[in-house]
Order: sequence, then structure tokens, then C-alpha cells
Amino acid sequence: MRKIMIVGAGQSGLQLGLGLLAAGYEVSLVTNRTGEDIRTGKVMSSQCMFHTSLQIERDLGLNQWERECPTVDGISLAVPNPEQKGAKLIDWGARLRSPAQSVDQRVKIPGWMDAFKEAGGELIVKDAGVDDLETYAKSHDLVIVSSGKGEISKLFERDAAKSTFDKPQRSLALTYVTGMRPREPFSAVCFNLIPTVGEYFVFPALTTTGPCEIMVFEGIPGGPMDCWADVKTPEEHLAKSKWILDTFLPWEAERCKDIQLTDDNGILAGRFPPTVRKPVATLPSGRKIMGMADVVVLNDPITGQGSNNAAKCADVYLKSIVEHGDKPVDHVWMQHTFDRYWYGYSQWVTQWTNMLLLPPPPHVLNLLGAAGAIPPLATAIVNGFDDPRTFFPWFADPAESERFIGQWAAAA
Ligand SMILES: Cc1cc2nc3c(=O)[nH]c(=O)nc-3n(C[C@H](O)[C@H](O)[C@H](O)COP(=O)(O)OP(=O)(O)OC[C@H]3O[C@@H](n4cnc5c(N)ncnc54)[C@H](O)[C@@H]3O)c2cc1C
Repeated sequence: MRKIMIVGAGQSGLQLGLGLLAAGYEVSLVTNRTGEDIRTGKVMSSQCMFHTSLQIERDLGLNQWERECPTVDGISLAVPNPEQKGAKLIDWGARLRSPAQSVDQRVKIPGWMDAFKEAGGELIVKDAGVDDLETYAKSHDLVIVSSGKGEISKLFERDAAKSTFDKPQRSLALTYVTGMRPREPFSAVCFNLIPTVGEYFVFPALTTTGPCEIMVFEGIPGGPMDCWADVKTPEEHLAKSKWILDTFLPWEAERCKDIQLTDDNGILAGRFPPTVRKPVATLPSGRKIMGMADVVVLNDPITGQGSNNAAKCADVYLKSIVEHGDKPVDHVWMQHTFDRYWYGYSQWVTQWTNMLLLPPPPHVLNLLGAAGAIPPLATAIVNGFDDPRTFFPWFADPAESERFIGQWAAAA
């Protein structure tokens, strides 16, 4: 297997493509938008990436923006008190062991596209359809589809046993701004959980115009934060963002008195159902292709894991391809490669993320509350974002959760 076609130039497609080029493979990448389209288009994500994912990028030499990008040094949690406006029921923060960073995909993806071409990769701009996939499957040893939420991803059958939901669980919106008062004493993903309404989180990032803050809104469908349908202009989007904070999170509104949009495209609103798909699809000719990252494991952004998953999935696929050497690939190898990613890692991310989309059970509320009084517990929760496998079994199981709290309380 030497000649590989990747469909979709996002986090996973480009990272894998660049990794394969460095390992001496012949790689083509087809994508439906040019670098310029992406750079001048709308924001797509909040893409906060934690240490392990950033290290994968560093190891491949893909950390071009590391010095200019602000660091996210911790994570904080606030839950408003429903009985007293402006007061908090839960309020704590802890430092990450190593900082996280978010480089706007409008900066990163065009930069990686240039690096891909410079490293000898073939970049084709085309909206690939089934006929194209047939052509690629004939001419290449392996076709990997990393088209994210794109329509073509639906070629991969939904895995009902692994998918908890069949409808969107949150109404999503992004607002990229400047002029926000920084969090003190250290920068953080400031995560706010408003029971029965939704979640809001905000953190520093690097965008096309320099440093910024990214505001992420996760509204429960049908609730007051599911409020973007009648928003028509960037000005209205900014005003709606401020309205949410004024209404539910006055301490966050305080930081936003002087905010402005980074640019008219620094906004996004949408929704999608979290979905796990089967990793191998069969084309009309009978040839097999495989899916990667969001194509196969698409989670809600509530836990900020999608780009991290994409980086880790592409890393597993790169290792599997290189380890396989010159042997031909078949659907068994494709399934094994996905299983390595799913059973070894992403099943835990999906389970944890899906738990947070549902009303928190008492033991989770207890955990989140106890972390305010037990700093090492807060540190364990915060650093779980870098590797959500570490949340198990204690996040999912009431007895384990109690034991875990007791263990850290004793240590503290
Ligand atoms: C509101 C929001 C907030 C988010 N916040 C975070 C966060 O804070 N942290 C985090 O880790 N993740 C976050 N994510 C998720 C993260 O952005 C994605 O999980 C990640 O980008 C997925 O990478 P990917 O490589 O699978 O696909 P993508 O990065 O989506 O790339 C897919 C590419 O394929 C191209 N494409 C699609 N169809 C075709 C076709 N037919 N032919 C050719 N090309 C095609 C697309 O144009 C795109 O370039 C967020 C997502 C959203 C929606």
C-alpha cells in the first residue's frame, strides 16, 4: 500500500496526509474548498485542542502557530443559582497540566494545505461524489473519507448500536470576539452550565486577525438559548450573544461590555445529531473505502473533543498504515484500524460527551460540587479533557464516584 487518496482536507485529512508524505507515501487529497475559500469564509469550529493532540501536531512539525496563539491554562466551571440572580451554586477552576490552544481552522487549514503541496502532495479541489470515489478506489491502494459532516459521509451506515441519539441535542452557535476582559488569575475554558437551558463556554484563541476569544453557545432544543433562527446579520448575532449572557450569566456579561466581532464571518449557528457510523462503506462496484474522524465518530461539541478526536484518529490511522507495510488492505484491516481508535479511545469520549448532553444524574452533580472544595478533584476533572478515558469508571458509576471523591478528599 503506497498510493493513498484522502477525501476532505480538515483536521484529520490534512494531518494524516502530511504524516503519510513524511513517511514516504504518495498522497492525494481532494477537497471541496480552496485555502482562500476557507480563510475568507465563516468560522467552522472552536477547535480547542488539549496537550496530547497538540503534541501529535508538534511531532509532525504542524505547530506553526504555537508561539502566537494564546494559551488556555485551565478550565473553570460555574453553575448559576436559580433562586438568586447573579449568584453561583458551583464556582471553581483548576489548571491544566499543559496548556491547550485553539488556532482558528481558517488559519490552520489553508496553512496546512500549503505545507501539503510543498511536501509533494497532490491537492485536488473538487466536491467528490460517488463516481469520483469509484475512480479513486481503482487508481489508489486505499481511499479514506474525512469529509466531516459533509453529505458524502452518509455513504457510511449509521451504527445504531453505538449511536445514543438520532436528533440534534443542542442548538449551537459560535461568536468570535475581541475586547473581552481576560479571565483572572489564569486563562481558561470558562464553562457555564445553566440547568434546563444549556451551556456556554469561552476561551482565548488565535484567529485570522490575531488573538480573540471564542464564545460557544449550546442551547437545549426548544429552550430560551435555542434562539438563532431569526438572527439575520452579524450585528444581530453579536447582540443575541450578549442577550444570553445578560439574561443567564451576568458574571460573563461583565467581561463582555466592550466586545466586538473579530470579523463578519466570525459567527456560526447550526445543529446536528451526534452519530457513530460503520467505518467501511461499499461502493456500487463492490470496492471498499474507509471513514475517518467526524465521518465515523461525530460528537456534540459540548466537551470540545472533535478536533482532538480527529487528531487522535488520524494518528491511529497513520500508525496502522505504516505498520501494515506493503501488504494490500482489505475491509478486515479497515475495521481493525477503526476498532483500534474506537475501543482504544473514542468510545470513552462518546460516552462521556453523551452523558453531559443529558440532565446530570445526582452523582455527577455531587462530583462537580465537591470539586469546589477538593482542589485535586477539580484538577482530575479538568485534566480529563485531555484524555476522557480517565473519567471512567468514576464519572459513570455512582459508587465509584463516591469512592473517587473520598480518595481525593483524604489526599487533600
Ligand atoms: C460549533 C462547533 C464547535 C466546536 N468546538 C470544538 C472544540 O472546541 N474543540 C474540538 O476539539 N472540536 C470542536 N469542534 C469539532 C471539530 O471542529 C471537528 O470535530 C473537527 O474539525 C473534525 O475534523 P475532520 O477532519 O473530521 O473534519 P473537518 O475538519 O470538518 O473537515 C472536513 C473537510 O472535508 C471537506 N469536504 C466535505 N465534503 C466533501 C466532499 N464531498 N468532497 C471534498 N471535500 C469535502 C470539507 O470542506 C472540510 O474541509 C466543534 C465543532 C462545532 C460545529
